[in-house]
Amino acid sequence: MSRIYNFSAGPSALPEPVLRQAQEELMEWRDSGMSVMEMSHRGRFFSLIAEELENDLRTLLAIPDNYKVLFMQGGATAQFSFIPQNILNGRTRACYVNTGAWSEKAIQDAKNYCEVIVSASSEASKFTNIPDPSDWALDEQAAYLHYTANETIHGVEFSDIPDSGGLPLVSDMSSNILSRKFDLSRFGLVYAGTQKNMGPAGVTVVIVRDDLIGKAGKQTPPVFNYADQAKNHSMLNTPATYNWYLVGLVLKWLLKQGGVDAIEQRNMAKAELLYQTIDQSSLYRNPVDSSCRSRMNVPFILADQNLDKPFLAAAEANGLFELKGHRSVGGMRASIYNAMPEEGVRALCDFMAEFERTH
Ligand code: PMP
Repeated sequence: MSRIYNFSAGPSALPEPVLRQAQEELMEWRDSGMSVMEMSHRGRFFSLIAEELENDLRTLLAIPDNYKVLFMQGGATAQFSFIPQNILNGRTRACYVNTGAWSEKAIQDAKNYCEVIVSASSEASKFTNIPDPSDWALDEQAAYLHYTANETIHGVEFSDIPDSGGLPLVSDMSSNILSRKFDLSRFGLVYAGTQKNMGPAGVTVVIVRDDLIGKAGKQTPPVFNYADQAKNHSMLNTPATYNWYLVGLVLKWLLKQGGVDAIEQRNMAKAELLYQTIDQSSLYRNPVDSSCRSRMNVPFILADQNLDKPFLAAAEANGLFELKGHRSVGGMRASIYNAMPEEGVRALCDFMAEFERTH
């Protein structure tokens, strides 16, 4: 079997040791006599998997004790609606920062539940910068302030946690959770789908401060209710058990790598290598302001669009897959999450240089 380098934005490459362990344990998990897929979610074996999963995530992210950790379904997309349903807490307005396609979707869905105040937007720059947080229009009566920590499509990432002016800060970290250090205590709520830095698709992690939950209206179904799910350890209904297990393996792999600090150093080196290759060339260009270039998703365009197809074909011939940019922005995009080894990025950079030389 020859594995390729997979630059998909998600679902995306998983650490090879994780896949091998899953393969080894497919038939039987730790002397249990059964596959994880066959276990009752209430049984003692799966209880252990669930407990380790939460503990490992708490360790990796240094999650304070006054935060609940939930493992939900419906993707980050469902959270766009669950968040206002759960934490408006009687207020009628919420502030959102619009830095790209995923912010826009979050805003659109929140409008079904409250008045959305767009505190800042980078739409005018075609989402290539982040408006200066000191200029954001914050409403002190708002229930919370929402921002997208990393815009997966536009390749725009916050390098610092913005000041929320006292509002509970809510962040979509779907594409950069566990890739860099965050002081969780600055947030009211953080959420992320697992299919980029945490495992396969099918689980959504929600980390929420205790005082924000428990006041959702009766129209919120219990499985979507943070307080109800917290009380039931995210098992109000049958969870996606095998996916929980796989996320658990990824977290253990990350702990072995030295945790978030160590992986952040590697992510910085990988991103620098790729941006350098782009900036030094006259064929490739990344339009994002250098202060907010994403370390996870690196979009770039070719000076001549006619070269897009040949570029992608030649990349695949060299074992470099899923480099096509999102259909809404075109061009290319290389997603280089935690599981992408530095050799993969080097292979991409070498290929890009060679392609430029021959075209
Ligand atoms: N937010 C961000 C930043 C994303 O990148 C994505 C998926 N690419 C989503 C939300 C939506 O995630 P899902 O498809 O799991 O609902």
